[in-house]
Amino acid sequence: MQLLTGRCLCEAISYEIRGELGPIFNCHCSKCRRWHGAAFRTRATINASQFAWLSGEDNLARYYSSEFVVKHFCKVCGSNLISTYENEPDKIGIPLGGLDQAPNNRPEGHFWVSSKSPWYEISDSLPQHETWPGSHAYIRTTSNDR
Ligand SMILES: [Zn+2]
Ligand SMILES: [Zn+2]
Repeated sequence: MQLLTGRCLCEAISYEIRGELGPIFNCHCSKCRRWHGAAFRTRATINASQFAWLSGEDNLARYYSSEFVVKHFCKVCGSNLISTYENEPDKIGIPLGGLDQAPNNRPEGHFWVSSKSPWYEISDSLPQHETWPGSHAYIRTTSNDR
């Protein structure tokens, strides 16, 4: 079984993920660009049961980026860690940038390309979706659903 680990910049907080990630996408929406300070966020969804904090949980801070979406980050170094969904508590959103290893799957496409940074050109041949890749539910698909 795949075992992935990740950590924040100051390394106070670390976590592990057991098993496969759901489909990986690059999100170009303005919230993701701001949260990551980057052209886009590379993310996947996992089952909450696949995830465990290994250290530093008391350094976590939370921010509601929308009514049901909670962004969890390190209050020492500011690293973006996970997203939880109050309307789907059995799922967790993972930014791939914090992982220590390469997962078995690779990005499938880009979404919210309609909000893309004007200074960034997508230079790969992956599918580009103006908004959600088919449906909002699809990006919250986990290994349980496939
Ligand atoms: Zn940190
Ligand atoms: Zn986004």
